[in-house]
Amino acid sequence: MDLGIAGKRALVCASSRGLGRGCAAALAEAGVDLVMNARGAEALETAAEEMRAACGVEVTTVAADITSDEGREKVLAACGQVDILVNNAGGPPPGMWQNWDRDDFIVALDANMLTPIALIKALVPGMMERGWGRVVNITSQSVRAPIGVLGLSNSARTGLTGYVAGTSRQVASAGVTINNLLPGVHATDRADSLDGGVAKAEGITLEEARSRRESTIPVRRYGTPQEFGAACAFLCSQHAGFIVGQNILLDGGATNLTV
Ligand code: NAD
Repeated sequence: MDLGIAGKRALVCASSRGLGRGCAAALAEAGVDLVMNARGAEALETAAEEMRAACGVEVTTVAADITSDEGREKVLAACGQVDILVNNAGGPPPGMWQNWDRDDFIVALDANMLTPIALIKALVPGMMERGWGRVVNITSQSVRAPIGVLGLSNSARTGLTGYVAGTSRQVASAGVTINNLLPGVHATDRADSLDGGVAKAEGITLEEARSRRESTIPVRRYGTPQEFGAACAFLCSQHAGFIVGQNILLDGGATNLTV
């Protein structure tokens, strides 16, 4: 399917690895020029070079912490006019509900709620003026069904979801759609690190921790960044202009819901 977005320009945050990288790769395949961001320059350059070589698109890289004011300023200064924004950042650490204090919540809110909101506020007005735009926020299945040890994620991402629910309906008439993609378990460094924590706590191997988690997913495997990226690219396509303010679960059926 031709996604109809060749020649558009996208900012994909936190995209040197994992799900962000999957989204950047799928957009590059659709002919979209990219601004890629991650904290470390080396992995970012490697990923960017692969996309240039594979797809012949223009890729600008900005090594910066997207959750900081200075990082966002640097990224926004480099990206200029963009048609597509993919919001992403690292997720909060696991823990227990009674141990998080105000500072922990502020860090999580900054990273997973206020950063995407700041980027939406900076970039959506230009999209509206030009009459076309796409925003995809990478959130989590924890928005639909809470994950006990990820209370910081449950809280911050639900805040973003509420903002998107209201805002998406206010900008849609200008041709701009905002939607959220909710990953279930995907095979990335983040999944390895969470499995590593379980393995350590329970005295089992990483493979055992992983196969236990796979057995709870109806498709009996983890998702891939490629599958995730393909869904993101579709939401950014010309074909997705009627999808507004949605929360789309990509979880292999793991969240047990009727609707
Ligand atoms: P990952 O750890 O594999 O990759 C994270 C990427 O983000 C890397 O490129 C890293 O450099 C970059 N990054 C992290 N923090 C950054 C920051 N502050 N500024 C700029 N770049 C930053 O993570 P992932 O598995 O791809 O997850 C992406 C998001 O999706 C995270 O918020 C995660 O919590 C969430 N999520 C992941 C899963 C999963 O199973 N992988 C499930 C649910 C939610």
